Order: sequence, then C-alpha cells, then structure tokens
Amino acid sequence: MRVVVYARLSVTTEESVSISRQIEAATKYADARGWEVLGEPFVDDGVSASKNKPEDRPAWRALLASARAYEAVLIWKVDRLARRVLDFLHADEALQQRGAGLVAVEDPIDMTTPQGRAFATMLAVFAEMEAAATRARVAAARRHLIRGGRAVGGAVPYGWRNVPNPQGPGMVVAKDPDRIAYVEGMAQRTFDGHTLYSTMQWLEEVGAPAPSGDRWHYSTVERLLRHPLLAGLTTFNPGNTDSHRRGTEVLRGDDGLPLVNEALAVLPLPRWRALVRLLDGRGDTSPQARPRAMRSKTSGVLSGLVWCGEHPDPVRMHRGTTQGRPSYQCPQCFQTVSSYLEECVVEKFLWAKCEYVRWNKVEFVDEGAAAMLPEIEARLQELGELITQERDRDARLALLEQVDALQELQEQGRHADPEVRLVEYGEAVSFDEAWASADDDTERRAVLGDAIERVLVRRGRPGRGSREKTAERLTFEWRFPEQVGPVEDSL
Ligand SMILES: [Zn+2]
Repeated sequence: MRVVVYARLSVTTEESVSISRQIEAATKYADARGWEVLGEPFVDDGVSASKNKPEDRPAWRALLASARAYEAVLIWKVDRLARRVLDFLHADEALQQRGAGLVAVEDPIDMTTPQGRAFATMLAVFAEMEAAATRARVAAARRHLIRGGRAVGGAVPYGWRNVPNPQGPGMVVAKDPDRIAYVEGMAQRTFDGHTLYSTMQWLEEVGAPAPSGDRWHYSTVERLLRHPLLAGLTTFNPGNTDSHRRGTEVLRGDDGLPLVNEALAVLPLPRWRALVRLLDGRGDTSPQARPRAMRSKTSGVLSGLVWCGEHPDPVRMHRGTTQGRPSYQCPQCFQTVSSYLEECVVEKFLWAKCEYVRWNKVEFVDEGAAAMLPEIEARLQELGELITQERDRDARLALLEQVDALQELQEQGRHADPEVRLVEYGEAVSFDEAWASADDDTERRAVLGDAIERVLVRRGRPGRGSREKTAERLTFEWRFPEQVGPVEDSL
C-alpha cells in the first residue's frame, strides 16, 4: 500500500508529541507493514484542532490536492486530525473521494474497511466528548470560584484589592478603603460634566496615588470608569477557548442577567450604564474632550447652549470671535451675537432660578421588571450572536432556552411602566449658591447646563448693540420647568 504521512502540532504544546516524533512513529508503522511512504510528510504546525476544521488547514488541503497516488493517510492519533466528529467524517469523506482511507498509528483505526470506519467514528465521538467535558470542567471551576466571590486571576482595578477570604481558602475582591473614594469622585465628576482631562488633574491635585506608581493619564481614568466592577459586576472569561469573541463577559445568573455584588458596587447598574453611555458620547474631537490649553480663548461658559432661532429647526451656533470679542455665529444664516450675550444669559438665569434647588441630574428610576429591560435587550442581542456562532446543537438549544426565558421577562417588564423621577445628589444647593461657588468655566457651564436646555437667538434690530437689544433677541428653553425649593435655611 502507498501512503502519505500527515502530522499536526497545536499552538499550545500541552500535547507533548512533537512533529518529528509523530512522523517517526508513522514512518516506522509503515515500514513494519511494508507500506511505501510517498514523498515528504504534510505538516500543519501551530494549528489547534478545536479552532478550525481540517479543510481550513494549509497542509491538509495540500494533501487533498496532491498529485501523489496514495491509498491511505497515516496519522499519529485521531485527535491530530479533528476534535469534532463531523469534521472527522468530512475529512474521511474527502479522502474516500480520492479512493484513500485513514490509518492512525496509536488509535486502532483503519478507515480502509467498513468495520474500521465504524470503530473510528466511535473513537472520534469519545474524543469530542472528552474535549467538551474538559472545557465544561474548566468553566465550571471558574464559575464556582467567582460565585463564591473568590478572585480568579486577572488584575483587580484601581479602588479594589484582593484580600484573604474571611469565609475560607483563597482570596476575595474587596473595596480598597484608601482608594475607593477616588473612584466615586471620578464617576461623580463625569456626571457633573467634567472632562476626563479635568478629572485627571483633580486626581493629581488631591494627591490620589496613581495606579502602579505611574502618573495619572486620562485614558486610565476612562478605562477605570468603564469597568463593570463599578456596578458590582464580576468580569471573567469562561474558559480560554472563546474569550476572544466574547470580550469582557460578566457573571450572570441562570436567567442570563448579570449578578450584582452590592458590596463591591459604587454605582447602581442603570447608573453605571448611563456613565458608559456618557463616555461613549464623548468623541476626542469635541472641544470638551480637549485639554484646556488647547481650547479657543473664548469663554466656554455658554458652549453648546446657544442656538439660532431663525430656522424651523434651531441650528447650533458656533463659538468664535468677532472683532476680538467672543461671539457666536450661525453656520447657516451667519447672524452673530457677541455684545452682552454671556451677561444677559447669566442675568436671566439667576433671575429665573436663583433660590431654587439645582437639579444636578435627571435620573430615570425604573422600578420592577422594567428596570431590567435594557439588560434583557443587551443580553438578547448577545445571545443572537452566540447562537449563530455555536456549532454544537445542545449548546445552541441551551442558549435558545435562555432566549425564551428572557423574552418572557421582557413581556412582564413592558407591562410595568417605568417610574421617572428627578433626583438630586449631594446636598440641596440653590442655583445661585452653585453659581457663586463654581470656580472655573467648566463648572459654571455645568451649573448653567442644569438649568438651561437652550438659548434661542433671533436677529436683532439694526443699530448699536445694547444690553436691552441683546436681551430682546433671546428666548430661554429651561431644562426642568418644575421649580423646586427655595432651599430652606435650617437655622
Ligand atoms: Zn441661523
């Protein structure tokens, strides 16, 4: 019989049998039976069996396309060729079409006879079961540790630390009392409208120890704020095999929704999601994202608040300078407003809002099942992708079951109207106090932004500008028409 030799070594070298030993064993096997080995062996080096099909591997394809007239392909073990039964049978089918069969040195298989073929299929089934069981065991062990709050490898983000598990062996994650306040401060400042850059400066000013003895960088701040641990979620990769496509996976309950460890959270989950969305909305090109020194010389106090009211849909006016003075110009009709604008806006704001409570933020507080709707939505999308990628039928069915359960929860959630409330944070502070204690333009902008949605500007009458003339041109759209307060003095 004329044969060719096929050998494969996976990327991981846990299988100790090197390419040369595989080839040597196959050659000896052929010699012992008086078979003729045709040409050089076909070798796939650094290719894992579970990651791709035989037909995707260069050497296996070369073997199938080869002009050599072989009747059998000699491999060392079945698992060199395929880890999945289907892949194995496909490979065998491709060989059959060439009138060849598969022979393994270590496994008693010989695909050149019907009995040999049946036996080989069984072996492949067992190999696949074994591989699946190993993956499941690894994932289960990790889940078990994580559910118990135990740390599983990986670095703990700034603000938390690993401490000895008070309930048993190993380590658990806990808040770092020396640092967690800085993390809370970072989140709060971001909600307040501060830039990442200004937050980074704040960290340096207050002397927050930098992570790993390095200097603070605003990308470090951003990475940290995006960490799911802020909401008490546990990140992990379930086994190594598919971590690359799942990215950051968080620990979930049986219903597929994230498990929250309240003791580790600094923000409720919906609020952390809002924080991430806030960060998503900040492009590097927005003026707010750039360091102060790089911004234009004009005051940013009204930045983004000034709109041209000369169009059916108001157009945002651009900041610039006219004759050396800060001004705003409409990019469509080119009307400008410069004299007294800032003064007029601030005056009107203080007149209208003065003693009322500053609403630092609107918060949508969803109660009951409705609160989980965004979570359910996100998980359903994720499941959709996982299902299309999953090749194993049982695993696919398990994912489909999760979809069913989540859709039921979703139905329930839709019938519960979310409750929307305005929530203030920190102390109740009136707008005029907030204005007085703001010590830079960024903070002043944040205070104004909590009161004013937009200021619409109309064309002015011709002639010399005056305070009155500018004031006449402005229409205010208030952020929250409801007034709350005045703040009572508790003397
Ligand atoms: Zn205009």
